[in-house]
Amino acid sequence: MADILAQEPDLFTQPTYLPRVTRRDGRAIEEALAGPTLFNKGVSLAGAVIEATYAATDPPLLGRLREGGVPRLVDPQTTRLTGERFLTIQQFERLPYRTDTPIRVDTPTSSSLAQLARAVMAFEQQVDASWYLTAALPLYDQDLPSWLQHNDKLLEASCAANSAGDLDRRKLIAQIAPGHNAIGQPELIVNRLADYPIDGVYVQPLRMDATRDGVEKLVQYVRFLRAITSLGVPVIASRVSAFGLVLNALGIAIFDSGLGEAEACNLANLNRAPRERETTGSSARGDRRIYLEQLKTTLTGRNATAILENRPLRSRFVCSLGCCEHKGFENLAERRRQHYLWVRDHEIEALRARPTDQMRIDLVYEQLRDAREAGRVVRRALTALGTAGPNFDHIDRWIAVLARETELSQAA
Ligand SMILES: [Zn+2]
Repeated sequence: MADILAQEPDLFTQPTYLPRVTRRDGRAIEEALAGPTLFNKGVSLAGAVIEATYAATDPPLLGRLREGGVPRLVDPQTTRLTGERFLTIQQFERLPYRTDTPIRVDTPTSSSLAQLARAVMAFEQQVDASWYLTAALPLYDQDLPSWLQHNDKLLEASCAANSAGDLDRRKLIAQIAPGHNAIGQPELIVNRLADYPIDGVYVQPLRMDATRDGVEKLVQYVRFLRAITSLGVPVIASRVSAFGLVLNALGIAIFDSGLGEAEACNLANLNRAPRERETTGSSARGDRRIYLEQLKTTLTGRNATAILENRPLRSRFVCSLGCCEHKGFENLAERRRQHYLWVRDHEIEALRARPTDQMRIDLVYEQLRDAREAGRVVRRALTALGTAGPNFDHIDRWIAVLARETELSQAA
């Protein structure tokens, strides 16, 4: 494993995007792995994040990633064990560390936590993850001190298990799932992590939605992530979608997001019973979302189609990358995952090409300002057609976050 890491020195220092891979992503990933041809240079995969429930089904895609030399990180989904819902989901039954009852704040013992930590690593070794991603429980606001203690024990046990018994030594990435109060006290988390020999930190907040949350909340989140980088290890921000580019510009090297998803972290929603979820859930279910680079936004299929069917707008949003070249717009929804991967790769490459922090910040500023302008044009055009245009207010908020954080670093 050390050899594989040695071949991937860029993963942790350069801006990096990791797709969250699901069973629906096979074709897009296959295409990316097929690599460059004479006429197009293809998409490069720096790595991939696979949910444990998917990895447990032993999908051929895992083997393809392995053969392609793509490092794999497995999200053990242990935060789900604190809800009821996992008990009703068949895929969880395949996880050897699935508990029989939900974990409550007063149920874990030191030995049950040590067992969980170890079983997660054994599973990750079994599915040949490139690094260990530690078991974590949510840092809920309620009873935070107890949840912190549980997580300390999990991390301690994970570090102790690395290379002990039948577990190989692999790089260890500590997972944290902070709630609102934990995010507000980064020093609390940083001081705890500083005690352990970890190679990275994976952050999956309990509730974060970069396209809906306000500036204050996003700034707080960014400061939390930046505080963790002070440990000198790379930080991976989970499920942040295009906001990951803002994070990249601010020195958070890595982010993950599903292909073509307008993603957000919402553990309560994942853990809610399905019936409740259907009534409160997205009305756009089944609507295929499409990412438009110039808008830095994943749009519903309905809105994307309205834009692309509008001739004056279309020319502005034409995608000239390998995914769409010579293909017209008609079938964009069908290849939306490939398109997402290509566009994201293109965005990351542009960031990597800027060698200094300031140049990266300038680039993302410029892109967001362009996106704001493009968003105005779209809204105007669609409103004139009698369609309720999509909302791009998050772009203004992201610009504000970037402004706040860069003033801060210039003052420091
Ligand atoms: Zn495209």
